[in-house]
This record gives sequence, C-alpha cells and structure tokens, in this order.
Amino acid sequence: MSIRKIARLGHPILRKLAEEVPLELIQSPKIQQIIIDMKDTVLDADGAGLAAPQIHEPFQIILVDLDDGNGLQVWINPKLTPISDDITVSFEGCLSVPDMRGAVSRFAQIKIEAYNEKGEFIELELEDFPATVAQHEHDHLLGILYTDHTEPGTLAFLDEYKRYKPHLWSMMEDASDDEVDLEEVQEHLEEEID
Ligand code: ZN
Repeated sequence: MSIRKIARLGHPILRKLAEEVPLELIQSPKIQQIIIDMKDTVLDADGAGLAAPQIHEPFQIILVDLDDGNGLQVWINPKLTPISDDITVSFEGCLSVPDMRGAVSRFAQIKIEAYNEKGEFIELELEDFPATVAQHEHDHLLGILYTDHTEPGTLAFLDEYKRYKPHLWSMMEDASDDEVDLEEVQEHLEEEID
C-alpha cells in the first residue's frame, strides 16, 4: 500500500497532456502499481476520483467513483463524448485544489470509451453527477483544472462558503443530489452584492 503525494494547483504536471498507455503495457508491473497507488491515495483522501497526473504520473489513467456501489472504476486512455446538449451545474472540488469549491457547468450526458485495468475495452453512458466526475477527471488528462471553468464569482474557500454563503453551502451539502440551479446560485451571489 502506498499513499502518494498529490500535486497541487501550480505544479506543472497538472498542466501537461497525459500520455496514452500502450495497451500491451496495461498489465505491466509499473502501470499496475500506479493504479494500486492511485486507489490507495484517493481512498485515503476521500475523493470521488483521481487522475494519474495528480500523483505525478504522466499517463492517461483515471479513477472514478460512480457512486453505484461498485467502487472505483479504472479507465485507461479514456475517450469522452457528450451525447446530448443538456447542461448540468454542480459544485466541484479537487484534491489538487484543497478546501475550495466552485460551480461548474458540464454536459449532463456523456459516453466513455476506455480500457479497464485488465486491458478490456469498456464503453458506458453516464449522466448527471457521475458524468460530471468523469468530465472533471478526464480534464486532468488534458491539463485542465475545474478552476478554469468555474462560473464567475462562485470559486471560494469551503470555510468561507460556510461562513458567508450559507444558502450555497446548504445547496452543496444536499448530498442526495449534487446538481445546483445556476440561476439560484447567481441570485444568492447577487443578493450578497446588494
Ligand atoms: Zn481534480
């Protein structure tokens, strides 16, 4: 078991394009160890997902917890395609940007094509929060962080949300459904400015 150090916002590895894993190397000890370390690291940090660059490994490997009781999915060389124009908004956080949250708009329905840790091709369709997590983690492979996408005015420290924006905080805390109504968010933000 090996919990790895997580790269934080500002580390150049988070801005690099991750490399494809050659299929014949998926079962290699090196790649398998990276996957084990990613699982240990994300479980320790209590995250919903993790991308290999976040533990300083420049490969196209992501872990995503789809919250379906099946634990962490491993996606290698994932290809992500939106399958509708519907948009969903939710508050996101990132283990590489500790203690912050911001509202991000994402495609509500996507398709993922990838390889699992056994090298088997997998294809699945996701919607709403699992689709959001998948897009967040996939962005890491392109050197993109959620802070690049936040709705204007919504990026803040978690503690300050609790202190100054209790309505938004309670919206975020509604664990049954992490989606938020962007208009409602903007209304709360405007109220504060008034
Ligand atoms: Zn992240």
